[in-house]
Amino acid sequence: MRKPIIAVDMDDTICHLVKRAIYHNNIEFPTHPLRYEDMMDWNTDHLRHPESTMDLFFGRPGLYEELELFDEYVVEEMEKLHNAYDVIIVTAAVPKTVLEKWNWLQKHMPYIPADNFFTCKRKHLIGYDLLIDDGPHNLLPAVQAGKKVLCIPHPWNLRAREQYSFPLMTSWEGAKERVDEILQAQGEPEL
Ligand SMILES: [Mg+2]
Repeated sequence: MRKPIIAVDMDDTICHLVKRAIYHNNIEFPTHPLRYEDMMDWNTDHLRHPESTMDLFFGRPGLYEELELFDEYVVEEMEKLHNAYDVIIVTAAVPKTVLEKWNWLQKHMPYIPADNFFTCKRKHLIGYDLLIDDGPHNLLPAVQAGKKVLCIPHPWNLRAREQYSFPLMTSWEGAKERVDEILQAQGEPEL
């Protein structure tokens, strides 16, 4: 019997991208400081200095290698999930960030083999059973396709969380047991 496939996002799911991008932004553009709490939308153009382009904000060389782990539990829980299930990393990336993301994974979660590292933006094309992600644009198509999800709450998914009651996971503590329960639960996902 095949193991259930657990697709796990990277940015702001197993590591903190936006907080680190804000850190650099606020050093370089102190007249336009950003706050994590204000990141209520993917598009933050109106909050950033005109020279703080999306490409600079999310594409600063080396950024993806220096991201902090999501919390103190994520490495251990991801390894438990990897041992029990077919865990694949599914992360949106542009070509220049792919190696940085792979290097980060190798540093923090070396048990994830390269075969399980998928870089793609159109995540709904992948045949996973459960998706752990922070992006409503990924979570909603998954639920609509009858798949299970766990949403990592952040300000930018607050509106979607209010509209669709995604199951939430605020900490990686106990994540393996949480996934066990969700996969064992019968019936359609509720929204
Ligand atoms: Mg993400």
